[in-house]
Amino acid sequence: STPSLRTEHLYKVLVIGDLGVGKTSIIRRYVHQTYSNNYRATIGVDFALKVLNWDHETVRLQLWDIAGQERFGNMTRVYYREAMGAFIVFDVTRPTTFEAVVKWKEDLDSKLMLGNGQSIATVLLANKCDQGRELTNNGIKMDQFCKDHGFVGWFETSAKDNLNISDAANLLVKHIMATE
Ligand code: GDP
Ligand code: MG
Repeated sequence: STPSLRTEHLYKVLVIGDLGVGKTSIIRRYVHQTYSNNYRATIGVDFALKVLNWDHETVRLQLWDIAGQERFGNMTRVYYREAMGAFIVFDVTRPTTFEAVVKWKEDLDSKLMLGNGQSIATVLLANKCDQGRELTNNGIKMDQFCKDHGFVGWFETSAKDNLNISDAANLLVKHIMATE
């Protein structure tokens, strides 16, 4: 048989949101299939690589975690540079982290756009859904919120129970590949 060359894609993906919403836990769950109640908050930027077989192509997601800078609610342009997609995470048990989502999205969009002037594909993650669904089921119309604020979609996730994280990543990859 003819050896086939798989097309490879490397995408920088940002994981942002307030302190304690579960960014590191989501990445650990997705990349290493592990979960723990306390991760040491390392200061700086951490990377994890997730490799996906996508049809006949290979997708490498370079996930950028942040630690320590969340409290400022914004990041530098240098950090955002060349990212192709983003997850913005909030904690369903803490409404203030949901209120911060808009601020994170505005910070991202103000500092990074694609060559065509569009903002990068961003998926909203309502994490810790194992703790309750009040915030996402009642009161807040999440689909409309996503439309209003330019998210390509949203998922209730649980890093603890391993819920919807890979589905969310697949949606993000689908959108990145469509806009690349
Ligand atoms: P980060 O600051 O955004 O990186 O948040 P961490 O990943 O460090 O998580 C903060 C705390 O929330 C830790 O104690 C985690 O174990 C906990 N946590 C993270 N994800 C979940 C989840 O899906 N469900 C529950 N119940 N706790 C979670
Ligand atoms: Mg963290």
